[in-house]
Amino acid sequence: MDCLFCKIIKGEIPSSKVYEDDAVFAFRDIEPQAPVHILIIPKEHIASANDLNDENSAIVGHIFSVAAKIAKSEGIAEGGYRIVNNCGADGGQTVGHLHFHMLGGRSLAWQTG
Ligand code: AMP
Ligand code: ZN
Repeated sequence: MDCLFCKIIKGEIPSSKVYEDDAVFAFRDIEPQAPVHILIIPKEHIASANDLNDENSAIVGHIFSVAAKIAKSEGIAEGGYRIVNNCGADGGQTVGHLHFHMLGGRSLAWQTG
């Protein structure tokens, strides 16, 4: 399957890895929107939040527990951060592999464009 993030997981495309376990991979966004901008993704190819269901959605809980660990290791747990999922065209999703943006390291405005 021709998926950018599946290739990053397999190491076929280089990335700045932050965390990896059996089910999850996390790496720095190539166009950071904040001092800390990390993408946390399931290793299983799930195209978007629309493709979550009772069989595969446990990974989302695991992703949030990984996010809490990463927040500590990145030094943003106390200051706070934002976790964002863009779904589909109107949501601004540009890569068709489920991913959660973790943004932190500065005070974030609350605005949707
Ligand atoms: P989204 O617009 O929510 O689908 O987010 C996709 C994100 O992937 C964007 O923030 C991009 O900057 C990021 N991105 C695209 N290609 C790469 C790459 N090769 N390595 C790291 N991040 C990437
Ligand atoms: Zn994929």
